Amino acid sequence: MAGVGARTAYPRLVPLSPDAFYAHALAAADAEQRLPLSRMTGWEISPFEQGGLTVAPLRPPVLPEPPRHGEDQADCGTCRRRDEGIWLDDRWRLSRVPGVGVPLALMLHPRDHHDLADLPDELAAELGVLTVHLARHIQALPDIARAHVYRIGDGGAHLHVWFFARPAGQSQLYGSWLVVWDDLLPEYPAEIADADAAVVARALAASYGGIARTGESAPTGEA
Ligand SMILES: [Zn+2]
Repeated sequence: MAGVGARTAYPRLVPLSPDAFYAHALAAADAEQRLPLSRMTGWEISPFEQGGLTVAPLRPPVLPEPPRHGEDQADCGTCRRRDEGIWLDDRWRLSRVPGVGVPLALMLHPRDHHDLADLPDELAAELGVLTVHLARHIQALPDIARAHVYRIGDGGAHLHVWFFARPAGQSQLYGSWLVVWDDLLPEYPAEIADADAAVVARALAASYGGIARTGESAPTGEA
């Protein structure tokens, strides 16, 4: 059968340990541990031109990794903000992320302390529906082409899902460079972002349930 050979070969393979992964990467780097510019910087939408651009030396792995913010629930700042947001229901809350360059960035949190991988199935199902409704409402805003959705989770242990609104027609802001362009762009006018966030919050209350608290913007500061 097709594919059987590859599957039977897998048990003889061993995943790269952190040190082996580092050695594998360094094999492609120069004497200063700098990897060559490639791929994304060669993409025509890259925010950086390759001339003069230098790759940072690749540092060796650090193990164990330092704890993330809120790894201990007792110290979790996100839990302390469980009642804040522009939209809430019993289990979820939505905030606007201030100070961004894209027209709108929203963040969705479970009100209780969960990370993505330990989210109970009932909340996981709700997260799916909420993600779809939020993308729909963000993309219905004037001059917004796409809602990008990210869960990264390297900075904070309490699940937080990012929704970035990509401005229509700004074709260099396609794809995974968007967050870097966001960092380069000047801050989008806050009063317009607040108004757009309120539209999304009210639309979510209408389509999904929960309560929109328009006119409020909860500050967040997670990575
Ligand atoms: Zn928490």
